[in-house]
Amino acid sequence: MNIYRYDAVIVGAGLAGLSAAIEIKKAGLKTCVISKLHPLRSHSGAAQGGINAALKEKDTSAHEFDTIKGGDYLGDQSAIKTLCRKAPETIRRLENMGAVFSREANGRIAQRAFGGQSEPRACYAKDRTGLTCLQTIYEQADRLGVEFVDEWFAGDLLYDPFDRKAYGVAAMKLKTGEVAVFGAKATLFATGGYARCYAVNSNAHANTGDGLSLFLRKGLPLEDMEFVQFHPTGLAGSGILISEAARGEGGRLFNARNERFMERYAPQKLELAPRDVVSRAIEREILEGRGVGERKEAIWLDLTHLSAELIAAKLPELSDLAKTFLGLDMAKDRIPIRATAHYSMGGVPTDESCRAKASAALLTSGLYAAGECACLSVHGANRLGANSLLEAAVFGKIAGETIVSDMPSLDPIKASADDAGVFLDEIRKLLHSSGAESAAALRSSLQTSMTQNAGVFRNRASLEKQTEIINDLRDRFSRIRISDKSSAFNTELQEALELGHMLDYSALIVAGALAREESRGAHCREDFTARDDERFLRHTFGYLNGGKTRLEYAPVTIGEYKPEARKY
Ligand SMILES: Cc1cc2nc3c(=O)[nH]c(=O)nc-3n(C[C@H](O)[C@H](O)[C@H](O)COP(=O)(O)OP(=O)(O)OC[C@H]3O[C@@H](n4cnc5c(N)ncnc54)[C@H](O)[C@@H]3O)c2cc1C
Repeated sequence: MNIYRYDAVIVGAGLAGLSAAIEIKKAGLKTCVISKLHPLRSHSGAAQGGINAALKEKDTSAHEFDTIKGGDYLGDQSAIKTLCRKAPETIRRLENMGAVFSREANGRIAQRAFGGQSEPRACYAKDRTGLTCLQTIYEQADRLGVEFVDEWFAGDLLYDPFDRKAYGVAAMKLKTGEVAVFGAKATLFATGGYARCYAVNSNAHANTGDGLSLFLRKGLPLEDMEFVQFHPTGLAGSGILISEAARGEGGRLFNARNERFMERYAPQKLELAPRDVVSRAIEREILEGRGVGERKEAIWLDLTHLSAELIAAKLPELSDLAKTFLGLDMAKDRIPIRATAHYSMGGVPTDESCRAKASAALLTSGLYAAGECACLSVHGANRLGANSLLEAAVFGKIAGETIVSDMPSLDPIKASADDAGVFLDEIRKLLHSSGAESAAALRSSLQTSMTQNAGVFRNRASLEKQTEIINDLRDRFSRIRISDKSSAFNTELQEALELGHMLDYSALIVAGALAREESRGAHCREDFTARDDERFLRHTFGYLNGGKTRLEYAPVTIGEYKPEARKY
C-alpha cells in the first residue's frame, strides 16, 4: 500500500481546483491535484458562453444586485459581494496568464448580454470560453510544477468526526486498480457538478457528484440541494447544451403556433430572462400542447435572422453542435430545443473562505470546498449564466489562499495504510457481490425518474414517489453484479461506484424539495406556487444517515437588498 504525503491534496482539476493549486504551489507548499480525468477534460472546458465581470460600469453594484435578484434572494449577500467585486481582477488575472478573450474593434474585451443581467457582462472567447480559461490555467499550474495525479478516482474522504478534522483521501488508480492513501494537512474538494442524476442533462459523463457523497458518508451536510438549474436550451433528444450565448447574440424562441411566447412570460426581458423563468416557459408551452417536432416535445430556437458571418465568428461551436447532432444549419434552420438539467446551486456548505462546514453552526478543520461542488451560497436559488466560471476562478483562488494561511495551525499528517480500508471494502463488496442487478439499468431508472418527478416542475406526490423509487434503487444497488473482475480501467466498477454516489445525493435533492413548500428560483412546486419568505427564506442543510435523510435550516445572510417580488 502506497502512502503519499502532501501539505495539501486537491481533488478536482477544473477551474476551481487549478486556481487553488496555483496559490498553494506559489506559497512553496507540497501539493497535488487528483483527478479522475485528464485535467483538460474537466467540465470547465465545456463552458461555452462566458464569464461575468462588470468591466465597463462605474462599480460592481449592479452585478451584485442582478445576482441577488437572479438567485431569488436566497444567496448570501456578503459572498455575492466578494464574487462580483473580485470579477474584474479575475478577468485581468486570466488575461495576464494568457487567456485570449474576444475583443471589440477598439481592442477592449468584448462582453455579451446574458440572462438576468442589466448590462452585457459576459466576457468570452468566441463560444469556447471555458476551454480557453482551463487550458491557460492548466499550463500555468504545470509551469509552476504543480503535481498532477491524473486518472485516479478519489473514493473516500479521510475524516475524523469527533474532532471534525480531515486528513486526506483514499484513491484508486484507474489504469491498474491500485488503491493508495493520500495523506494531507489540508484537503480541498473541487469535484464539480452533478446533473448526471437526470436523464436529460447537459453535463459530462464524469459529473456524478462523487465529492458530495463522500462528504455525506462522513455525516457531513450538503446545503440547498433542491435547487437544480434547468438550462432552457438543450438540444432536443440529447440535452446537449446550446449556450445562452445563442440568446445573448439575439436568438428567439417560438412555439408551434409561431408565437414568440416569452412575450407572455417575461414581457421586458423576453428570451434574456433568467434560466429558471425561460425553462418553465418552455416546459409549460410543451405541456400545454404547443411543442414542435414529431412528438411535440421541443421548442424552436431561431437564429436565422442573424447573419451567417456573425454565427461563424461568435458561435462556431454551437453551430457545429447543431450540425453534428441534428444535421441542421443554424444560419438557415430553426433548432429544436428543450430544458436540460445543467447546474447545481447546492453543494458542500462552506464559509466565505471556503472552509467546509460540519453543520450550520460548526466548521471542520483541514477541509475545504470550492467551485460547483461547493455552496457559499453565491447563486441562491438560481444561478445567472456566466457566474459559475467566475465562482470557480474567484473562490478556487480564495480556497488556495485560505489553505496557505491555515497551514501553520493544521495538524501534522497522520495517514496510515489502514485509511484505505473503507474504500477497499467498498470495492471488494462490489466486485464479489453475487446479486443479479445491473448498475446500468439502475442508473437509467434513477435518471428517468429524477427528470420525471424532481425536474422543472415538482409536487408532493411526485416527490414522495421519487423518495420511494430512490429507496428501492438503494436496496437493489446492494445486489448489483459486476461481470468485469479485472483491474485495468474497470469502467464497470467505476460506474457502479459513481452510481452509489448519485443515489446518495439524489436522496438529498428530493428530501429538500419535498420539505420546501414554496416556489423559489429553480425550485418550482406546482402545489406551492408562491415564494414564502416567512417559512423558507433559509438554507437547507441535509444529512444522510443509514440511508435516511434529515434536514436542518440555517439563516440567509441578507445585506442591503431586502427581498422583493422578482419580475422580469
Ligand atoms: C455544457 C456546459 C456549459 C457551461 N457554460 C458555462 C458558461 O458559459 N459560463 C459559466 O459561468 N458556466 C458555465 N457552465 C458551468 C461551469 O462550467 C461549471 O460550473 C464550472 O466549470 C465548474 O468548475 P469546477 O472546477 O467546479 O468543476 P469541473 O470543471 O467540473 O471539474 C471537476 C473535477 O473534479 C474531478 N473529479 C470529480 N470526481 C472525482 C473523483 N471521484 N476523483 C477524482 N477526481 C474527481 C474531475 O476529474 C474534474 O477534474 C457550463 C456547464 C456546462 C455543463
